[in-house]
Amino acid sequence: MTPPTPKLEQPRMLIAGQLVEASDKATFPLFNPATGAKLVDVPEATEDDVDTTVAAAKAAFPAWSALEPAKRGACLKKLAALIREHNNELAMLEATSAGRPISGYIDGIAAASHFEHYAEAWPSIQGQASLNTPGYVTMTLRQPYGVAAAIIPWNVPLLFFAGKAAPALITGNTVVVKSSEKAPLAAAKVGELIIKAGFPPGVFSVISGHGLPSGAALAKHMDVRVLTFTGSGRTGRSIQEVAARTNLKKVILELGGKSPAIVFEDADIEKAAEETMHSIQWNSGQVCMANSRIYVQESIATAFIEAFKRKFASARSGDPTIGETNHGPQADQTQYQFVLSYIEEGKKSGSLALGGEGNLQSTGGYFIQPTIFVETPENARIMKEEVFGPVVNINVIKTEEEAIQKANDTEFGLYAAVYTKNIDRALRVAKALNSGYVGVNCTSPQTAKDLPFGGYNMSGQGREGWLHSMDNFLETKSVMMKVEAQSKL
Ligand code: NAD
Repeated sequence: MTPPTPKLEQPRMLIAGQLVEASDKATFPLFNPATGAKLVDVPEATEDDVDTTVAAAKAAFPAWSALEPAKRGACLKKLAALIREHNNELAMLEATSAGRPISGYIDGIAAASHFEHYAEAWPSIQGQASLNTPGYVTMTLRQPYGVAAAIIPWNVPLLFFAGKAAPALITGNTVVVKSSEKAPLAAAKVGELIIKAGFPPGVFSVISGHGLPSGAALAKHMDVRVLTFTGSGRTGRSIQEVAARTNLKKVILELGGKSPAIVFEDADIEKAAEETMHSIQWNSGQVCMANSRIYVQESIATAFIEAFKRKFASARSGDPTIGETNHGPQADQTQYQFVLSYIEEGKKSGSLALGGEGNLQSTGGYFIQPTIFVETPENARIMKEEVFGPVVNINVIKTEEEAIQKANDTEFGLYAAVYTKNIDRALRVAKALNSGYVGVNCTSPQTAKDLPFGGYNMSGQGREGWLHSMDNFLETKSVMMKVEAQSKL
């Protein structure tokens, strides 16, 4: 049955403490990807809106950065409580506008826990002092940059919203978040909650719109001193170029992946199949760290592929607002067609073992069947490029050396996994994999909050995480003080 289209109020942007439309009243339409029905019109921020927002953030910076950090933390804590209170509403907004099944919705609670963590994290904003230079006391001071911008993607929007804004705010920066045009509703709702949480006007703003104009306007803005971005490599590169051409703002990039998982013959086959399947199925494969390439050792290949197929085929697709659904549609028509085009190419290069079709005709929504290819040549496009859908390539390897060579034969390096009971092999392979993250007998989306997250090579630059993100938003100043020797009278 087609789910009903909810009546939504037109979202607003939070600029200089006010909920507003775009200055020229421009909007863009948002559709429900599970049905194709139009949901609501969303403000399209103009370059003028970006200027106004950044000017307000700049004006708010001196007082916010001078505020006792525990008082900054109090606003973060209040916001966390409000997000927890509105978690179900946020889940429904993401389900209807981006197709995220409510059964797998973790973003609200995860976002709240980020704000709670950073609210208490201010005591670790510390410099160093030394007496290593004779005649001097030397020290470093850690200071905020000023205006920080965060540009976020659509796949797990509130997680990135909070993971970027919370550390920037507690360290004394003022923040402008630009949400994704594909998933702006939860961010706009949090904009309303920011006012209730008591942030002074201008300290924390949320704008909506496409990369052009508003994202690009933030990237080139001379008063934005640090920009943190999660999204595609293409956009990350463009932001880096624009930053280099303007004020050389600091840029942190969390980009895409083509993550490998290696399953050796001594692994627990059922467990490895279950976890690697979940990695590529969760959020319909729209996950930067999803293991989209699996290398399985020859002697267990048939058993592993059968177990994987059985599990992947049992994904329950349907209305994302219903608890039983665990496989939603792709986020929109563009993503749907993008994934299908890779599937068509995969059919030419590899051998289709499961799925391989879109279900738009029968469902009216952008659903794609869980899809498996086997025996795909390593140089095929589908082995090299990010598909960002429920599509996995499973290839057979004979030796450890072959597995490492193939796993590393990529420009990406976000998350790699290895399944084996042999501790020596586990550590050898973990060391050899070119990847910012390695799971041993586990795979993505499993992560640890206190480990740094980020990519090698084209998967990005910089690291985020509870012990690492504050560093992204703090400048280091060196101060040396001369200490005169006591005069001999
Ligand atoms: P995207 O690059 O298309 O868009 C991301 C954001 O950038 C959006 O807010 C968009 O409006 C904005 N943008 C687009 N063009 C811009 C420009 N020229 N200047 C400034 N901003 C611009 O990415 P997406 O499709 O939203 O997200 C999917 C991508 O994100 C995938 O490649 C995925 O792997 C990656 N991703 C990475 C991580 C990670 O932590 N490494 C996490 C999630 C997603």
